[in-house]
Amino acid sequence: MVLFRYVCILSLLSGALTSWAQDYVPGEVIVRLKTQANSQSSYAFLGKAHSQKEMSLKRSWNKMNLHHFQLKAGQTVEQSVAELRADPDVLYAEPNYILRKSSDFQAERVYNQDQVMAIAQGDPSFAYENQIGLPEVYQAMQNYASSYRPIVAIIDTGIDVNHPTFVDSNAIWVNEDEVAGNGIDDDHNGYVDDRNGFNFAYNTANLWDDDGHGTHVAGIVLKVGLDLMADPMPQAAIQIMALKFLNDQGVGTTSDAIEAIYYALNNGAVVLNNSWGGPSYSAALLDAVVASYDRGAAFVAAAGNSATNNDSAPMYPASYSVPHVMSIAATTNADYLAYFSNFGVNTVHVGSPGLNVLSTYPGGSFTQMSGTSMAAPFVSGIAALVKAASPNMLPYQVKEVIDTQADPVSHLIGKVITEARVNASRAISAAGSTAVSGSQPGYSPSYMSRELAGELSDSGGGCGLVTKLYREFNQGQRPGGPTPLGQGPETWYILLVLALFVVPIALRAYLRSRHPANRRRHQRYEIQTAVTMNLGGRKLVGEVSSISLGGVRVNTDAWLDQGGIVQMTITSPDGKDQVQVAGKVVWSEAQKAYGMAFDEEKTGPLALTMISQWTKGLKKAA
Ligand code: CA
Repeated sequence: MVLFRYVCILSLLSGALTSWAQDYVPGEVIVRLKTQANSQSSYAFLGKAHSQKEMSLKRSWNKMNLHHFQLKAGQTVEQSVAELRADPDVLYAEPNYILRKSSDFQAERVYNQDQVMAIAQGDPSFAYENQIGLPEVYQAMQNYASSYRPIVAIIDTGIDVNHPTFVDSNAIWVNEDEVAGNGIDDDHNGYVDDRNGFNFAYNTANLWDDDGHGTHVAGIVLKVGLDLMADPMPQAAIQIMALKFLNDQGVGTTSDAIEAIYYALNNGAVVLNNSWGGPSYSAALLDAVVASYDRGAAFVAAAGNSATNNDSAPMYPASYSVPHVMSIAATTNADYLAYFSNFGVNTVHVGSPGLNVLSTYPGGSFTQMSGTSMAAPFVSGIAALVKAASPNMLPYQVKEVIDTQADPVSHLIGKVITEARVNASRAISAAGSTAVSGSQPGYSPSYMSRELAGELSDSGGGCGLVTKLYREFNQGQRPGGPTPLGQGPETWYILLVLALFVVPIALRAYLRSRHPANRRRHQRYEIQTAVTMNLGGRKLVGEVSSISLGGVRVNTDAWLDQGGIVQMTITSPDGKDQVQVAGKVVWSEAQKAYGMAFDEEKTGPLALTMISQWTKGLKKAA
């Protein structure tokens, strides 16, 4: 079998070249249990984790039955995650992934207020302020007064809360039930001295921004409704909550990000600004984003700064498909996509200024910075003023107003969904005259991820195209086990391992040397487009079209353009039956290759039953 030999060789090659970057905290895992918190099985699991696996609990989010563990010394994250996923009580288990601020730019020049006044006068590099209608907003807000001042959580590197701009505008949120600096958790919310927010990175109430990023981001949010150069400074129409989870390098963990999000929701924030992200899908972070949706808070996220397409290389949290998430690209003064900005015609929603943006900086100063980190807070500022104009508006509608009121710009065609750059003035005006919708679409997450493929460690190295087919979340049962299909828990997937990287190449090689005897046996091999890849960065680039091998036919024309969503037609080994399935490209950590996870809802139980029955045949064929 010439073909399978090619596949094997290339599989090994791919395995050797694809390095797994250490983008998670060593020795830590995050686990969500299937049952309710405080249930008997939940206690049993925690007891077992403690006594048998010597895992120590770092913290829990009890409503979610979500737990953050420190592993026993010497225990690897990979091994523990694999073991935990095999546990029938576990809904998901994952590493504690690393997240980073979405601006690689350091402040080059820092100005004092007088210098800023001088450079800001008529300087064309501040054209973005006119572009998005800030003068009109300032005009409209001249006599603005409202007792409702929406809270925006700046989930970032901290804030210089003593910056004169924030102090004079009274912009910093105050937890009135907490006394600052008395060492007591006065309001019993679990955080000592959290008067203006909390520092989850260092577990202290000290919010000092030792990076500078968060202070800059906070100033941009404020700047949407307030001229930072105003003298005298009016009171801000919004409040800024400082939640530090990124350290002095702008680096943080998923567990701290989750904690910051839940803190924001529990303490009244209605807009969450997230100028950070990472390439690793986290189900726990997704749950936190879903919580913000359910609890009515807008969620704005930077699309990322690697000039790549989020449709094919997602950036989280920006790429979660929760209906209220706003993924923001950065634009220039001439309404081009900024050269560093990520984009995605299916996954990034709108453009916003992100080049050389002037804003506040620690030490009472100002500076210009660039990044989608700077683009996102303009949108958060708009969202906050939309909420001020229409306090009962749900986040889904907030996003709708901002998207529909954005200005179409030709350079964003094919780059972002709306093909437009935000307009603060139009969005805020429209919010006041838009009827509030009392409901928003329901959303329940399905935890499909590359992590789910990580369990496929014993499937023979990918030497057959279909090496294994089994159900995830199936009480630990594997194919051939006694559990009938359709009787497992509500959420499960079939993982069909396809060496997506290697198969097209193997097929091209195969087609060139195709033997007549093989032609009859595998008739549907047709490769129309090549695949390119960046194995080191685990980036998928390229397209595949209509493969057929050992009874499997893949129609994957658009799988990269649609966020890795794959529609497949699978033909039975005898060629008599066909089923349509839908799934998502997932990364197999164990195999160092991409595979597919199938979504039961989109695929249907009948199809999965049929495929299951074919499994043995497929293995024989290989
Ligand atoms: Ca407290």
